[in-house]
Amino acid sequence: MFSKSIILVFEMDILQTPIEFLKGIGPNRANLLKEELNIFSFQDLLYFFPHRYIDRSKFYKINELPQNNSEVQLKGSIIRVKMINQKRGKRLIADFSDGTHQMELIWFRGHQWIKNNLKPNLEYVIFGRLNWYGGKPSIPHPEIETQENFKKGFSKSLQAVYPSTEKLLTKGISQRLISKMIEELLKSIKTPFFETLPLGVTDKYGFINKHEALINIHFPKNQEKLTAALNRLKYEELFFIQLQLLIKNIQHKQKIKGYVFEKVGIRFNTFFNKNLPFNLTNAQKKVIKEIRKDLGSGQQMNRLLQGDVGSGKTIVALMIMLIASDNGFQSCFMAPTEILAKQHFQSITDILDELKVSIALLTGSTKKTERKIIADKLESGTLDILIGTHAVIEDTVKFKNIGLAIIDEQHRFGVAQRAKLWRKNTLPPHVLVMTATPIPRTLAMSVYGDLDISVIDELPPGRKRIKTIHNYDSNRLKVFKFMSDEIKKGRQIYVVYPLIEESEKMDYKDLMDGYESIVRAFPQPKYQISIVHGKMKAKDKDYEMDRFIKKQTQIMVATTVIEVGVNVPNASTMIIESAERFGLSQLHQLRGRVGRGNDQSFCVLISSQKLSSDAKTRLETMTTTTDGFEIAEVDLKLRGPGDLMGTKQSGVLQLKIADIIKDNQWLKIARNDANELLRLDSKLESPENMPLRQTLAKMKAFKNIWNYIS
Ligand code: ADP
Ligand code: MG
Repeated sequence: MFSKSIILVFEMDILQTPIEFLKGIGPNRANLLKEELNIFSFQDLLYFFPHRYIDRSKFYKINELPQNNSEVQLKGSIIRVKMINQKRGKRLIADFSDGTHQMELIWFRGHQWIKNNLKPNLEYVIFGRLNWYGGKPSIPHPEIETQENFKKGFSKSLQAVYPSTEKLLTKGISQRLISKMIEELLKSIKTPFFETLPLGVTDKYGFINKHEALINIHFPKNQEKLTAALNRLKYEELFFIQLQLLIKNIQHKQKIKGYVFEKVGIRFNTFFNKNLPFNLTNAQKKVIKEIRKDLGSGQQMNRLLQGDVGSGKTIVALMIMLIASDNGFQSCFMAPTEILAKQHFQSITDILDELKVSIALLTGSTKKTERKIIADKLESGTLDILIGTHAVIEDTVKFKNIGLAIIDEQHRFGVAQRAKLWRKNTLPPHVLVMTATPIPRTLAMSVYGDLDISVIDELPPGRKRIKTIHNYDSNRLKVFKFMSDEIKKGRQIYVVYPLIEESEKMDYKDLMDGYESIVRAFPQPKYQISIVHGKMKAKDKDYEMDRFIKKQTQIMVATTVIEVGVNVPNASTMIIESAERFGLSQLHQLRGRVGRGNDQSFCVLISSQKLSSDAKTRLETMTTTTDGFEIAEVDLKLRGPGDLMGTKQSGVLQLKIADIIKDNQWLKIARNDANELLRLDSKLESPENMPLRQTLAKMKAFKNIWNYIS
């Protein structure tokens, strides 16, 4: 045991060596590595993993090259070299022959060096991407080395390709050089790399050991070894993330006691029997049950409530808040926008009707005098429910006894705010985070492994599937006709324009132009039109929104401020302009604003004719499905999980080697294993779990996952 720890310390020391101390790397190269690739130490270089591999065992003949842009490798010699002067600059062309035919190798930069080093009559191995022009193949900027050197290479078959940048390439840091540096690094570390997984785990899956995995990830001996290395390292990465999250969850449950809401009292019961205007769906019932169990457990609840748009999360939130007040506790309900907060306040006030619950609305635009009244009521405990925006977590807001905090549409809040909210009290309230972002369950678990999860997986009955149509903007007149037909039936319509921060000015112009053309097509007084956008004062937004809610206007022209949560059941049509500029989850959110009543609803996506292939996929997905989970899967595939639910800051998903979607199977397995391991040894005290404890300790010290798994 002792000897192992000593090896670990020793290895750590070497790996922490600054990168400039590696043979062959001077200060210039070191700076480039730091700036471009974040490689500061030996350790960083060792864990700088290839993003793909190419097969260097296969050689093509020029007369049988594939007629596409694939990467090929050839053997042959240079016949002649010529420099060509063009308007756009010089280029160097080498005629290359392999006996079957000839082709050109082309360099647009770095000619001098190439020219001086290319020798006729020497046998070369060249590698690069084919380019076909006028039926003739060429290779721009091939990798080139003598056959003699090629044969000496560390690995001849599978060659790692590392992520690189334009700057590195022009400064001469080639793939070959990166490989060389790693080779040098491996040579200079003489002890085997420390094993980080317990024997039980490596045995169970027949994993190769850490040392072998690290060598083969950079210099795979063959395909089997590479697969083995990838599997092991992917598993390891996912396993440690899961382990960390589960430990956090366990510690959280042990440490943080919560208020016990033991009874369901008069308010909840009266509401349930008299006020509730519909039957709850089974999914709503199930979720309320899960939450009630948490609230009675004596531990603080930390739960994520997932439910597609329109699945009825608000009523669940309200009923839980009634339980809180039945038990003598205050609640707060936080929404991401003023419009939404106000709407929650109104609909909740309406539905509570004569039930004796004191509720207030607090937003950025609440007047000073009103604020004072709310503050007094909060502190004296006469206010039961506070609904609002970020304003509810300002330092000046003091509850007498907050027992429950509900956050609506979590993805609009950073993780930081979540923490802030419950740091506010000396005793933490129960926390329920609600989101309509339907992320796959396993993914949710790895993002929010420290939260429990409930899902409303059923829409209220009677909802009709929203019909979604894609139209090019040349078809706008047809869309106008459709709008007027819907209005004739007494329905209301949203027309939404994109708002993207970088081009706010242009977006604003688009919106105003669009608004004007709609006003022309739907003239007053027959038609009334509301407009809401980010540049308006909150007061004016509310006024316009109000008119729409009260059916005084038939059309609501808006930017994405209405994206989240707005509920006007009579609105049957959502028109989305420049739909190709929206992300999938945004489109899904927007569409979720209609289809809230019992009438057939529509969503019309309007785009230009020119569409990128991603944009095509997005629009096609929208017209073929309304299932939020399906849409989320496509979205993840298109965008990657990078900026899911405010996780960008948290770094949880910045994986180096595993892919949270493609390696979903491994993720599940790793989570189960981590769970089982902690069940048997929750503090990881047993000797065989020693490497885990040490690794976890290092995890705390470093931000990046792989910085500690060494
Ligand atoms: P979201 O989950 O998107 O926040 P809401 O809570 O705004 O959804 O609910 C959408 C609409 O469905 C509201 O008009 C709400 O009154 C209604 N609703 C919620 N639950 C039910 C139910 N069980 N039966 C019928 N309508 C419901
Ligand atoms: Mg909602």
